[in-house]
Amino acid sequence: MGRLNGRTAIITGGARGIGAAMARLFTAEGASVVIGDILREEGEALAAELGPAARFQPLDVTAAEDWSAAVATAEEAYGPVSVLVNNAGIVDFATIGEQSPEAFRRVLDINLYGAWLGMHAALPSLRRAGGGAVVNVSSTAGLMGYANLGAYTASKWGLRGLTKSAALEMAADGVRVCSVHPGPIATPMTAGLDPAMVATQPIARFGEPEEVARMALFVVADATFSTGCEFVVDGGATTGSPLPVEAPEE
Ligand code: NAD
Repeated sequence: MGRLNGRTAIITGGARGIGAAMARLFTAEGASVVIGDILREEGEALAAELGPAARFQPLDVTAAEDWSAAVATAEEAYGPVSVLVNNAGIVDFATIGEQSPEAFRRVLDINLYGAWLGMHAALPSLRRAGGGAVVNVSSTAGLMGYANLGAYTASKWGLRGLTKSAALEMAADGVRVCSVHPGPIATPMTAGLDPAMVATQPIARFGEPEEVARMALFVVADATFSTGCEFVVDGGATTGSPLPVEAPEE
């Protein structure tokens, strides 16, 4: 018996990385999944691999008409949406001084506005499903600051805040809304990063996409008394300073 039997899920950015791991795990647990992404080839290949319980839907999360089509596709194929995972995201490494205004806005558009648009578009379907769960994939950058990642950090703090407003508003509809905060995870997004960046974490390695997917599954299937809160999956990266504090000399 799968833990998501009978559930219809939309996972954005589901063609690769963390989203793809979620699509694999959610279908294995009995859900029907619409993989929404701008990467058609990867998305279609993944849907073919997963079989009839998954289908790819071209979805740019910043386009309202794409969201209408994604929700309609999900409903027609599998029934009302009871799981929405706003996972699509981009990163742009640049200082505040060097980043272009257009690049800043693009990050906010996809990472924050895209998630708002997703909840806005899916809410009627979540209501028709009689309730459900929304998982907003934020980051440790939604819990602390990072240099050279101002736009990304702002977008992920914004998503964490939006999650709380949504949780308050949607409780009456039986919809729980939580944020998930991964630390460094081995995906195409982090492929070029220096492995030394994880050396001082309590769990000193990159996380696997499946480890984030299992956290999202927990939020959807098990965390029935949790809404509006943060689930951290970061190898302890946000736990504190790894530098030992020496007693001052007398
Ligand atoms: P990834 O780059 O491997 O995957 C992101 C997916 O989002 C891609 O399939 C991409 O095509 C899709 N996407 C981008 N723009 C889109 C748009 N406009 N519409 C629809 N889809 C779009 O990255 P990932 O590491 O799997 O990241 C997934 C999420 O996890 C992101 O929100 C990211 O910010 C977050 N996150 C990742 C890490 C990490 O270390 N990898 C850490 C913290 C948070």
